[in-house]
Amino acid sequence: MQMNISRRRLLGLAGMGLGGALLSSRPGSEVLGSEQPQSTQKPAGPLKITKVRPILTSPQPGVRFVVVKVETSEPGLYGLGCATFNQRPLAVKAAVEEYLDPFCRGRDADNIEDIWQTAYTSSYWRNGPVLNNALSGLDQALWDIKGKRAGLPVYQLLGGKCRFAVVCYAHASGRTLEQLAENVQAKKEQGFRHIRIQLGGYGSPHLSGGADFRESGFGSARDTHMDAGPYLKSVPQMFEYIRSKFGDELNLLHDIHERVEPVEAINLCKELEKYRPFFIEDPLAPEAIGYFRMLRHQTCVPIAMGELFNSPHEWIGLISERLIDFIRVHISQVGGLSVARKIAALAEWFQVRTAWHGPADVSPVGHAANAHLDLAIHNFGIQEAVAFNQATQDVFPGCPTLKNGYLQIREAPGLGVDIDEPLARKFPLPEHPGYWEPVRRRDGTTVRP
Ligand code: MG
Repeated sequence: MQMNISRRRLLGLAGMGLGGALLSSRPGSEVLGSEQPQSTQKPAGPLKITKVRPILTSPQPGVRFVVVKVETSEPGLYGLGCATFNQRPLAVKAAVEEYLDPFCRGRDADNIEDIWQTAYTSSYWRNGPVLNNALSGLDQALWDIKGKRAGLPVYQLLGGKCRFAVVCYAHASGRTLEQLAENVQAKKEQGFRHIRIQLGGYGSPHLSGGADFRESGFGSARDTHMDAGPYLKSVPQMFEYIRSKFGDELNLLHDIHERVEPVEAINLCKELEKYRPFFIEDPLAPEAIGYFRMLRHQTCVPIAMGELFNSPHEWIGLISERLIDFIRVHISQVGGLSVARKIAALAEWFQVRTAWHGPADVSPVGHAANAHLDLAIHNFGIQEAVAFNQATQDVFPGCPTLKNGYLQIREAPGLGVDIDEPLARKFPLPEHPGYWEPVRRRDGTTVRP
């Protein structure tokens, strides 16, 4: 990559978050018009990685963001990547500080794929969530740097836009059908045309009575309770109610969250066919992948799957055998943008669309990475997204925003999101370590989330 001093200085300013407006001009515009013809440029030396460090912050209550900052040999030029693993942030911090930082120092920041491949196998054992999230932080930061160096948003490096903005679905839930309908109405008024409906949280635990394990002193007082029966009965009733209130125009989604037995999930999906859901999410746990063929043979309900996936072996067969309709991996969980774009390319040939996981425990940098890829791929399906609170928007200048059911990114070189580190330090991680608290059946058996 060749560039003259004035342009590199400019991009350095962008890295420091100072040159966004200036750099919204494209290369070749008047801002960069003073560049010498290429033949007279001196080749710039490799851009070296000088430091890889995690930044932990919690401006969004209950969420432990981990963002990786990659610093380079060019003063002020850095990249940011999402490595948020809400349940194990300190393990990711250690993976970045103790292993990725020393591994990466001195390497050429331009060689994203080579760094990814060598870092991936540097632990010999691989494909776990801690190391994949750390790797994602590094990977996304390198894409951010490459965009800043090129003076282009990352979606341009991925091929340019296939759409003007990213269609999103919103979450609506309620403890009663009436409360749910009110929340659906509110999301509809905000401009969403795709709404995920849940009755009182995953598995409708409030509908279950008789947590016998508690009376027996089994488990801990914090453990919650759900039984499959009330949940399985409530979901078709919920769809019936919301369809009768809102008609056919609204696209309805639902997340089973893997909380019932495989055959129960299959029967539920069959029952939901008549309500024409946009998709049913995570009907089966990753451990039950073998049931997807049976599910497909029994129902044509669109299936979205994958937020818990870590390994290519989990998604390749589901995509290539056309057993799902939407692949919805958590991009940091699979190792970053470099992996996700390959998943999208694989899925395109099998008519599987994307629906990247996009809850509140993906940082604004991660949401931006989702959106850049969404903009650039043909087989984009839909994006899960959330509205971040003001504190999160302040900590992350350039945080993607939601408007009229679309996710909008800041048009700037790289991923378009920065971090205000002094402000981030004012939001330390909560004392609670962030465990996923157990959910139990009546007899105390744990339910896999
Ligand atoms: Mg989900």
